[in-house]
Amino acid sequence: MRPDVPFDNPPPPGAPSPWGPPADAARRLAARHPGRVAVNAPLAPWTTLRIGGPAALLCRASNPGQVTEFLEFADRHALPVLVLGGGSNLLVDDRGFAGLVLHPDLTGYAREGEVVTAGAGWPLDRLVAHTLADGLTGLEFASGIPGTLGGAVAGNAGCYGREIGELVESVTLLGRDGRTRQWGRDDLGFGYRRSRLQRDDGVILAVRLRLARGDTAAAAAERAAHLADRRRKHPVRLPCAGSYFRNLPPAAPGGRRRAAGALLEAVGAKRLRCGDAGVYHKHANIIVNRGRARARDVLRLAAAMREKVRERFGVELCEEVRFVPWHGGFRTISG
Ligand SMILES: Cc1cc2nc3c(=O)[nH]c(=O)nc-3n(C[C@H](O)[C@H](O)[C@H](O)COP(=O)(O)OP(=O)(O)OC[C@H]3O[C@@H](n4cnc5c(N)ncnc54)[C@H](O)[C@@H]3O)c2cc1C
Repeated sequence: MRPDVPFDNPPPPGAPSPWGPPADAARRLAARHPGRVAVNAPLAPWTTLRIGGPAALLCRASNPGQVTEFLEFADRHALPVLVLGGGSNLLVDDRGFAGLVLHPDLTGYAREGEVVTAGAGWPLDRLVAHTLADGLTGLEFASGIPGTLGGAVAGNAGCYGREIGELVESVTLLGRDGRTRQWGRDDLGFGYRRSRLQRDDGVILAVRLRLARGDTAAAAAERAAHLADRRRKHPVRLPCAGSYFRNLPPAAPGGRRRAAGALLEAVGAKRLRCGDAGVYHKHANIIVNRGRARARDVLRLAAAMREKVRERFGVELCEEVRFVPWHGGFRTISG
């Protein structure tokens, strides 16, 4: 097992000291936005792994003006910011997050012909159903992916050989400098489970998607098949964050990505467990929380899984799930 799991890393120079903004300033912010600001808010219920300590501040923005105000507050008090969608691709530190967690609760919807503009807070699967009901096809491949539209675009979520980036025309982004800008698909640097948005501090407010007036009956059938497939393969009751590691690059140019799950299966990863964190019995690349797992357990388990694959195949697995350390700034163990 590697000794340098990020949980044990010291905070970088300039990291905030725990714990958040002055209490009176936080109280004033909460009073201005009743029901939308929580102090010392547990994050575990906001993640699909059900793991993580409290956020100094958790702010739910229902409009772009609130996003701006919350970001300004974070700047004024030198707080790190975590943008939280559905929390389905995150592992939050057991110590929580010593900053401002911003949840963009933006669910506007507008349609011009085959182009849809949707707020970043739309639950992705609900948007798939909504666009189909609106007579548009294209998103059905994403049926059943948990989380929000914003999270899906930031990480270029995909499955069944498709990625959401293929449909994105542009994104409306609010930067930490308070300026709103439009980024077209070519600016967004989409790659396998990657986009430039992961390296930018901005908040996606809305996304323009180019869909099609296709065969909605066939698309609905495809949606039903994907949902059934997910129910068969993924944990239904146990908390998880989907595939923990990214698939590997193709062995030859133009080939298919190699499934990390196949290598993990071959090294017997399904037998591994650390505290209440275990590997799902039907899928060797999924870590589940069997009760009271902590982030520390998940990181140790993931390190053991990676180590076994490295030893046997000489291959370095790289996380898809993003670790959120208490002092801000994402970390992954490798890459
Ligand atoms: C059972 C299960 C199955 C899954 N299957 C798949 C799958 O088939 N394919 C796949 O790709 N993924 C899959 N995932 C992983 C996850 O659902 C996706 O990555 C999802 O798109 C993440 O969206 P989210 O809103 O939950 O993002 P979060 O987990 O909240 O955040 C992920 C990243 O996006 C950023 N982000 C979120 N919203 C915004 C925003 N508005 N502006 C800027 N940045 C933002 C966050 O800061 C963070 O860096 C699965 C997860 C689970 C639990």
